Amino acid sequence: MGQEAPDLNQVIHELVAANRILANQGVVDAYGHVSVRHPHDKNLFLLSCSRSPELVEPEDIMTFRMDGSPADGRKDNPYVERFIHCGAYEHDDKVMAVVHSHALAVLPFSISSTPMRTVIHTASHMGEHIPVWDSQDKFGDTGLLVSTIEQGRDLAQALGTSKVALMRGHGFTAAAHSLGEVLKISIYLPQNAQVYLDALRLGGTIKCVTPGEMAIRDSFGPGGRELARAMDYWAMRAGCSHYLHYKKS
Ligand SMILES: [Zn+2]
Repeated sequence: MGQEAPDLNQVIHELVAANRILANQGVVDAYGHVSVRHPHDKNLFLLSCSRSPELVEPEDIMTFRMDGSPADGRKDNPYVERFIHCGAYEHDDKVMAVVHSHALAVLPFSISSTPMRTVIHTASHMGEHIPVWDSQDKFGDTGLLVSTIEQGRDLAQALGTSKVALMRGHGFTAAAHSLGEVLKISIYLPQNAQVYLDALRLGGTIKCVTPGEMAIRDSFGPGGRELARAMDYWAMRAGCSHYLHYKKS
């Protein structure tokens, strides 16, 4: 027996909660966005119109095709960088949720030859290798935004099988198998960057999370009770528990 597809309204409300949570956690500010793949059609995804995440309401959520065009006939102003999401969903069928952020703490690792490393256990799900996408390599001088489908696809290529790619002088994109997982990665990636920066300032030898430790932590599963506990906490802090626990009436 197949699993019942989630209710669309419930998914929309969870996406609104995700917007509020990322804003409350300081991962996004006026800019940045989060999307989910449409629960009933894998060729579509749900993303707010161009609003700051803290202000997003259920009626702001639009439906987009993989080329970035609105699939719901709405004329609202879309995010210029919606092509980040198009590229990530098109690139990998298993990607179910995507976050794009300009979080300050990760930016040093997007412009330096010192690579981002995973150094704290809460960030272990982002993997061992964090690629850096540089728009300059293929597109030369641009406004540094991902404003075309070609740029979105190139970023997705750089992402490869990783869950996070840094974007030179810009921020990061995370792509994961669930909304909860992408929130967890996006919240702990900047914290990981801050701890690593602090350790680099201390000097001496730095010990990173090992691939074996990452594998053990991954075996706990991304959708476990621990994540549900975190989601409840984040939503309470953001004052949006009612969106997270919306139920079909
Ligand atoms: Zn951006």
